Amino acid sequence: MSYTHTFAGNPLNRADSERRDEELLKRLMRHGNVRMLPFHELKPLVRRGPHAELAWIGHELLYGLPPEADEPKLLGLDHDRNPYFAIDISIVKDPSHIAALSLGASFEDGRTAATELPPNQSGILAQARSNLNWHAKHRFCSVCGTESKSFRGGLMRECPSCKSQHFPRTDPVVIMLVYRGEKCVMGQTLARSNSTFYSCLAGFMDQGESIEEGVRREVREEAGLDVGRVTYHSSQPWPFPASLMIGCHAEAISEEILAEPGEMSDVRWFTKDEIKLALEEKLKGVNIPGKIAIAHHLISAWANGTANI
Ligand SMILES: [Zn+2]
Repeated sequence: MSYTHTFAGNPLNRADSERRDEELLKRLMRHGNVRMLPFHELKPLVRRGPHAELAWIGHELLYGLPPEADEPKLLGLDHDRNPYFAIDISIVKDPSHIAALSLGASFEDGRTAATELPPNQSGILAQARSNLNWHAKHRFCSVCGTESKSFRGGLMRECPSCKSQHFPRTDPVVIMLVYRGEKCVMGQTLARSNSTFYSCLAGFMDQGESIEEGVRREVREEAGLDVGRVTYHSSQPWPFPASLMIGCHAEAISEEILAEPGEMSDVRWFTKDEIKLALEEKLKGVNIPGKIAIAHHLISAWANGTANI
C-alpha cells in the first residue's frame, strides 16, 4: 500500500530548466495567469468558502508591496504551464490590504489550515513554507557573512563576494513505531508532559548515519530498548520548518523500557487492543496523533495488520 500523506502530493512541476533562466523568471512573475501565494510571518493566505483553499492572487499583489520586499519564489508550473509563486510579505506590518485582494481570505496557521485543505494543496503549502522560511533564516553567506542573493526562483542562494552557493535544507527525522509481538511502544515528550498525548518515538538523524542506525539509536536513547529489524513504511514532508519524516516499524528485541528523563516524561508498552481503542479515540487517558501526522498511519498500519513487517 502506498501513502500520500498530508504535505505530500504536490502536483506542480518544479520547472528545473525554466527556473535557471533569470529573464524568463521575471516574465513569469508578470504572466497573465500567474498565481501568487502570500505568506505573512510564515502564515499562508487561506480562503474560507464552502471549503478551505489556498488564496492565490495575480501579479496585482506585487504592486501593493514596498520596493524592498522579497521577490517571489517560483513553486512551479501546472499542466497548462501557468506559473505559481510564493512570496514572503512579512515586511508589511499590517497585511490586511493584501488579504483583501482575495475575498474571504485571511492569514492562517499552516498546520491548522492543512487539515482542511484539499490534499494536493497541502503539498504546495509545504514546499512554499519551507522555502520561504529558509530564505528568511539564511540571508547571509555562511562562509564569509556577506548578504547572499536568491537564484533559480529560490532553489539556491549565491554569495556575491566569495561566490559560495547555498541550497535549501531538508532535515531528515526518523519516526518509528516500536513493536514486539502484540505490543507496541508510544511515548510522551517532556513538552507534552501535562497532556494525554502519546505518539511514536522520533528524532533527527545524525550525520553519517543510515536510517536503520538512526532508528536504533533513537529508540535506545528514548526508551532504552534494543531494536532488530527495521522496516520502511512511508515518508512525509513536515514544513515546521523543513523536516522529512521517515516512517518505519522497528521490532524490539528487548523488553525493559528505560525512558530518558531529560527527553521523555513517559514511555510505555501498549497492547494492540489498547491501540485499536486509541485509534477510535476511546482509550481513556490517552490521545494519539490525528491523520495529519505520519505517526497515526504507522500506528494504524501495525494495529490493522497492513504494515510490511
Ligand atoms: Zn560568501
